[in-house]
Amino acid sequence: MSIEKTRPPHGGHGEQGITVLLRRMHDAVAQEASAQERLDHLTKAIASHVVADVCSIYLRRPDDELELYSTEGLNREAVHKTRLKWGEGLTGLVAESHRPLFTDDAPHHPAFAFRPETGEEYLHSFLGVPLIRSGKALGVLVIQNKAARQYNDHEVEAAQAVAMLLAEIAASGELLSQEETAVFGEMLHRPERLEGFPIVSGIASGKAVFLQPPAPKHKVFAADVAGEAARLEDGLNDLRASVDAMLAENASLSGVSREVLETYRLFAYDRGWKERLRAAVFSGLTAESAVEQVMNENRARMLQAKDSYLRERLHDLDDLAHRLLRLLSGEASNGHRALFDETILVARQMGPAELLEYDRDALKGLVLGEVSATSHVAIVARALKIPMVTGLGDAIDRCEEGDLVIVDGDAGEIHIRPALDVVETYRAKRELQSARQAAFAKERDLAPITKDGVAISIMMNAGLALDMAHLKETGTEGVGLFRTELQFLIGSQLPSVSSQEALYTEVLDLADDKPVIFRTADIGGDKTASYMDQGKEVNPAMGWRGLRMALDRPGMIRLQLRALLAAAANRTLHLMFPMVTLAEEMDDARALLDREIERAKRQGNALPKDIQIGAMIETPAAAWRVEEIADKVDFLSVGGNDLAQFYFAADRDSERVQRRFDPMNPGFLSFLRECAAKARQSNVPLSYCGEQASDLVMAAALVGIGIVQFSMPATAVGPFRRMTRSLNVGHLSAWLDDRLPQAQASLRPELSTFLSENGVIVD
Ligand code: PEP
Ligand code: MG
Repeated sequence: MSIEKTRPPHGGHGEQGITVLLRRMHDAVAQEASAQERLDHLTKAIASHVVADVCSIYLRRPDDELELYSTEGLNREAVHKTRLKWGEGLTGLVAESHRPLFTDDAPHHPAFAFRPETGEEYLHSFLGVPLIRSGKALGVLVIQNKAARQYNDHEVEAAQAVAMLLAEIAASGELLSQEETAVFGEMLHRPERLEGFPIVSGIASGKAVFLQPPAPKHKVFAADVAGEAARLEDGLNDLRASVDAMLAENASLSGVSREVLETYRLFAYDRGWKERLRAAVFSGLTAESAVEQVMNENRARMLQAKDSYLRERLHDLDDLAHRLLRLLSGEASNGHRALFDETILVARQMGPAELLEYDRDALKGLVLGEVSATSHVAIVARALKIPMVTGLGDAIDRCEEGDLVIVDGDAGEIHIRPALDVVETYRAKRELQSARQAAFAKERDLAPITKDGVAISIMMNAGLALDMAHLKETGTEGVGLFRTELQFLIGSQLPSVSSQEALYTEVLDLADDKPVIFRTADIGGDKTASYMDQGKEVNPAMGWRGLRMALDRPGMIRLQLRALLAAAANRTLHLMFPMVTLAEEMDDARALLDREIERAKRQGNALPKDIQIGAMIETPAAAWRVEEIADKVDFLSVGGNDLAQFYFAADRDSERVQRRFDPMNPGFLSFLRECAAKARQSNVPLSYCGEQASDLVMAAALVGIGIVQFSMPATAVGPFRRMTRSLNVGHLSAWLDDRLPQAQASLRPELSTFLSENGVIVD
């Protein structure tokens, strides 16, 4: 059936214009003609649609020059003759900047480069948009008019939609000759190095897998429009059926998870969405391209939305569109991602629970969008020793699944499709690292005593039974923070008392009489369990989490205390409560524990021979009045990740704000120093278990302000021990006493110099 005989549906939302253009583009590409002729028809279709005097397509050559491939309006002799260097002229600037550029006075624009053969001197207005694919500019679409006029937002948006399709077509082989297509293929697969931020150290290499599966490969334009419309209809029906089935299967679900599924259903049945998809198909696109086209339009709109709720929904819509794409390609809509033997997982965002679902043997490295060093996904990655680099939201656009990727978690960079010499360099670097690890392993029995005789206690952080192997490897004194919530995050339902007890017993057995400080489940914030009805909070990190949730809804913590008491029967139980804000909360926590002890006694169960109770100091309120809390506990532990977050009012999950506030800020260090001094006066031991102890200069500063007990990720222990053994605390404390009151900016640069001048090993 030809398109002309088929009545196109309405696009809705004013998209009719672009629909007509897409149809014309489809006709141009479908013609029986040479590649050049088809390209020229395409250019003509765009020119007449946007009412431009000139429409030109420049494509990128392997030497990075931009060549005029087709034009409607410029001198025809210029085609394949006019070339611009990368960054040269307005067109080169568009390619280089990856951004649209428009002006109503092109000849006077500072970047204007005159090419006499084109005859463009009489053209005043210029609109150029890049042809982007896989994060690379493959060319530029240029629209020009004689009259001096401003292009409006709609025109720029329409040009971008067309440019996106042009890039698809150029890479798909539907328009250009085989050789030309191969040139683009080669350009898209060049090695790339991307710079981000180091989060978990180490080097990993493997094949890329996306958390969100990529759209299966497909054609852009369809020959049989009616057939394509039928495929779309079937795909949508399958999608709706799969969402309905998901809701039926999870009928008992409540809270956030149910809300997410309900939103999916709303979107899946949305008539506006369906109409826009149909309009795109009737304009000649394949069902897959129509889904992508509408998905990109939605993205552009929602990213501009001021309302954060709307922006969040973007994720749902994207997910739904991806499900539809997979259904159209015949894949299951929600299959688990298969990993390669050595996999690098690439994602824009990811939560700690998602990470725990992956096979740890296969998962070698992580590349994420915006995530900070103290976020929980980073903490879990560090516990699992998975090198991780962040700040690379565009990595997904720049690599394809199966591409070789090297993650350098020390330098904070990744290499996509690295050349052989880069692979070789990293192999050597990895060997060096193994040698360094071996050297640390040899030092594990050396006591962490400073040069001036101050004994430092080093424990490690853990959260999984498999972490316990690191106790021996690192030679640490015990587990200073066992994050029990990880078990709660992994499963699809609340872990039973017996499974909790089994884990705690296993952990205590593996600890072999070394102390393990169990921190009761700190759920909330970014650690949400899918089965829990937590309600929606605007600021979950400051919301209903940790001890607050436990005291309001004691059902869960009582079961956990029951499991802990049973697991520690006849041994010492170290129990610590998270997110304590006021001293009185410790009374309530203790009352809950007493109830469980009474219950165990009534039932004749064996009890721990000793119970040590601790409070985490991770709110400024708790740190400021730490002596009141100290009165009620046996030990204290500073959760520096949260404490810094609340001190600076800077979300620990946001890399952007984390970079702004160095914990080595003199204010924060003085605050910690005072807190440590008050704990000392109260005769209650205080340790530091935040991730900042992995940062050696910061760790030295913490020792310098009087903290002598630490609990840190296993990976940080070797370098930390070496640092303490090379340090003279007396000298450093005196230096800090002098500098802290005066310094106004981060102490990092001057302290780094001081440490290196005094022979302290901080690398
Ligand atoms: C902290 O806040 O520093 C801490 C150790 O707890 P978590 O990172 O689990 O919130
Ligand atoms: Mg915390």
